[in-house]
Parts: sequence; structure tokens; C-alpha cells
Amino acid sequence: MAYISLGRNEDAMRVLLNAFDGANRSGDVRLAGLTLKSLALVQTFVPDIARARQYIEEARRTIEPLGDQWLLAEIEVLRAIVSGPVEDNTSDLSILVRAHRMTERMELALHEEMSLVNLSDWYLNKKEWDRAIEISRQAVEVAGLFDEPEHSGVAYLQYALALVGSGRVADGIRQLERSVSVLRHSGEDAYLANAIYELANAYERVGRMKDATAAYRDYRAVRDVNEGRSRARLVAEMQERFDAERKQTEILRLREDNVRTTAAAETQRQRAMFWSIVAGLTIAAGVAIGLMFRRTQLVNARLVEANSQLAFLAERDSLTGLFNRRAMRAWIETQTVSSEVSPMALLLFDIDHFKAINDRLGHAIGDEIIIEFGQRVQALLRDGDRLARWGGEEFLVVLRGVSAHQLPALAQRILRSISDTPFGTSIGPVPVTASMGFVPFPLDPEAVDEGWEGHLAIADQALYRAKGSGRNAGFGVLALVAPWSEVRRGLAESFDSVIANGLVISDACRGGASLVDKVIPFGGRNYSPN
Ligand code: GH3
Ligand code: MG
Ligand code: MG
Repeated sequence: MAYISLGRNEDAMRVLLNAFDGANRSGDVRLAGLTLKSLALVQTFVPDIARARQYIEEARRTIEPLGDQWLLAEIEVLRAIVSGPVEDNTSDLSILVRAHRMTERMELALHEEMSLVNLSDWYLNKKEWDRAIEISRQAVEVAGLFDEPEHSGVAYLQYALALVGSGRVADGIRQLERSVSVLRHSGEDAYLANAIYELANAYERVGRMKDATAAYRDYRAVRDVNEGRSRARLVAEMQERFDAERKQTEILRLREDNVRTTAAAETQRQRAMFWSIVAGLTIAAGVAIGLMFRRTQLVNARLVEANSQLAFLAERDSLTGLFNRRAMRAWIETQTVSSEVSPMALLLFDIDHFKAINDRLGHAIGDEIIIEFGQRVQALLRDGDRLARWGGEEFLVVLRGVSAHQLPALAQRILRSISDTPFGTSIGPVPVTASMGFVPFPLDPEAVDEGWEGHLAIADQALYRAKGSGRNAGFGVLALVAPWSEVRRGLAESFDSVIANGLVISDACRGGASLVDKVIPFGGRNYSPN
């Protein structure tokens, strides 16, 4: 076939246009049909599904009289794809089933596996998990019949998505790990990034935050490599090689698309399109074109989830994978609605002498410390608690369901998890300490109106005091002694005088040592203002 005889370094676009030229000149009907089919394929990368459909129908009309069942099966698969989740979620199941039956009857294992993946994807989108599991497991089996790591990797991924969707997250994780390991050796970075991303999500779902953070960073690294293959550069390279007028027209159109799409490059949808185009154009060399069917299909299927993925990315700090400040704020807002029934505590951290760490060891080591800091704190939290990177080397923890008198001990535990063992950086162990301010929310029923941000301001002043006490320390305000109105006035003037005058109950703790420095012992006393 024309495209299989292509040189390895040719891109799909050039091949198709050359083939189109050739077919036109020689009147070769079969080649014309093939070219139409492939043009349809390129339209699915663009993606211009309406045009793809036109090409498919033309290809069918052209090839049908020739009675080439193999080609017709391919066209059927392609048709199934463009009528699938590419556009919406309402594709015609019967086309997908027919595509599968044709490939099965003709014993085209590779195409059968592709159509099984498509079919399972249909059920996945419909949230019919049992069917999706059953069919994607078949895809895994069929992929085992031939030696194409990419096919196996995608089949595992599909199987995993079905398992995770059905709630069998642990089983899904096993398949995702398999998918990642297979895809890592296939050189298929677009799928690989996809699989790692899903794995990070799954780890997070079962609370394996360390693994999730690591996977998330891995995902970013793979994705960045993908992005390095700039789409604009590809288009420019193509343009150099294209001379015919018609080809120029295609290029201009691609360029317009490029401008249009890069304008919104931040969105995950664009990223997925980018993948599909880069991958689609580079894979053409020497690989059966059928492979691309499913690539398009899979990437497009992911578009369905694009918005939720985008939301995930928008919520995360890119260095640590922790929630960012904005996401934390939004989350606290949703939690404080029920703050009377379930009390919260705010713990604000700041790494000690971090400037000096940066200066002495370099910014990169500083970054490593920030990452490990997040991991250490996260490891101590329970379901329902939340950690965010609040600023450069500042972190905010929100604890749920703890009462004020538990706070000093909890705060100390976290400080010790930082100070007790040096951080394992790439240049060796580095001792790190942090200081902390903490406060329950609400501090008092009367203080509810102050809002969580008013309480955070108290935690911030407490943090400042902990820094002043020599660092590697925590300080917190736990309850009121005087009425809130009086405390509020006092806080506005001088935090230290509020403490000194005993208007509140406060407590201090130190990393790496037992509780010290208690201003007023908590408990065993009537703290009511009267
Ligand atoms: P203190 O004990 O009083 O907190 O002293 P400090 O040196 O930590 O003081 P400060 O909080 O003012 O310094 C924070 C430093 O953290 C300054 C900034 O350069 C550095 N920083 C902020 N964000 C990052 C980051 O993402 N990576 C690295 N390596 N450094 C950061
Ligand atoms: Mg700071
Ligand atoms: Mg600091």
C-alpha cells in the first residue's frame, strides 16, 4: 500500500497529498479511494469531523465497487470512529459493533483490537462499566496476539479506566501501572502521559498521596517532552517541503488552525489536539495507518474529560502537585458552610531561614525541600484534611473534626516530622525546620462572623510569634477568655498584649522537643468569659 511504502521520515500530510496527486494523474481508482480515506483521517486530526465524514463517504463509494473487504473494514472502523465520542456521546453503537464484527471475521487482530477499544470506549462514555470492563479485557487479550507494545499499553489503559470507573480502583491501578510500564517502552509519549495522568488520579482516589505526587510530576515531565516538539515547528518544516499550490492551501489552513489553537493553548482540550496532531503526523512513517484511527479516537475520547482535567490542573501547584491557594480558598468556602457542626483548624506553616537554604544550596535544592515538605506534611493528614501550598515556602493545613485542645499536640507532631529527620536532597541530607501558627475555626461561636480569613490572620500573627520565639516552633490561639468583641479590639492593636493580658488561651509547641512554653495550660479551668 502506498502509505506503508513511505520513507520513515516523511510525514503523513505530505504522503497523502502526494498520493492524491498520483491518483489524480494516473486514474488509479483504488489509490484514489485510499487517499480519500487517509484524507478523512487527517481531518480527524485537525479535527474537522464534518469534512472527515465527507471523505469517508467518498472513499466508500470509490472502494465499494472494487470489493476490497479489507479496505472496506478499515473504512468502517474509521466511520465508527468519527461517529463516536469524537463529536458527542451519542454515537451509533451498531456501527461500532459492525466494525468489530468485520475485523473479527477477517481475523485482523490489530484492527479487531482497535475496534474493541473503540467499543469499550463507547460503554465507558455511557458509564456501562461491566460491559466496558468485559470488552476492554478482550482488547487486552487480542493485543497479546501481536507484538505491539503501544496496542497493549492502550488496551491496559482502557481496561484500567473501565475498572476505575466501576469503583475497582485498586484493580485499575494495577492495570494502569502495567499500561505505563508498557507504554514507557513503546516511545508513545502521548498515550504514556495519558496513562500516567490517570494513574496519578487513581492513586489520589485511594489516598496514596506520595505516589500521586510522584506520578503527577512524572506526567508533567512526559507532557513537557511532548510539548517540546512544537507544533508550530512541525508546520514550518512541512511548509518548506511543500511547493505545489494545493499543498500551500492545506498548509495555510493548518497554520490558521495553529494560530487559532495556540491562542487557547492553556486549555487541556488544546493540549489533546496538539498531541493528536503531533503524534498523528509523526507516526505515519512506516506504521500501518490503521494505528492512527485509534489514536484519534482515544485522544478525542479524552476530550470528553478535558474540562475535568483542566479543573484538576488549575487546582494544583505545579511544583508540588499540592492544592494551590486559589483551590484551597474555594474549598474552605464550601466547608465553612457547615463549620458549626464540624469544627476546623487552620495551621499555617513557614519554612525557617529558607532564604539562607536557597543562598547556600541553590534554588533547585530549595525546590526539592519544598516538595518533600509537602509530602511529609501530607503523610500525616487524614481523609478530610487538606494541605495547600499557600505561598513560596508557606503551607496551609486545614484539619477537620479536631477540637482546640488537640491542636498543640497535632501541631507538634507535624513540626517534628519536619525537624526530626533531615531532608533527603540530591546533594545529601539537609536539616529543615518550620514554624507554625494555628487556630481553631471558629474560635468561639461569636467569632464565626470573623470568617475563616479573619481566623487565618490570627494564625498568621501566631506564626510570627513562633518565629520570634526562636523558630522550629508553633504558637496557637485556642479559645477565648474575654468576650470576642474585646479580644477583637485587642488583636487589632497588639497580638502580644492580648496574649500577655490573658484575653485568650494560647499554647506553644516546639519541633523536636516536648511541649514547652505554655502560656496558659489548657483544660481544668473554666474558660467562660464570666
Ligand atoms: P524565616 O525563617 O523568617 O521564614 O526566614 P526565610 O528566609 O524563610 O524568610 P522568607 O519567608 O522571607 O523567605 C522566603 C524565601 O523563599 C524567599 C524566596 O526566594 C524563597 N522562595 C519562595 N518560593 C520559592 C520556590 O518556589 N523555590 C525556592 N527554591 N525558593 C522559594
Ligand atoms: Mg515566607
Ligand atoms: Mg520562611
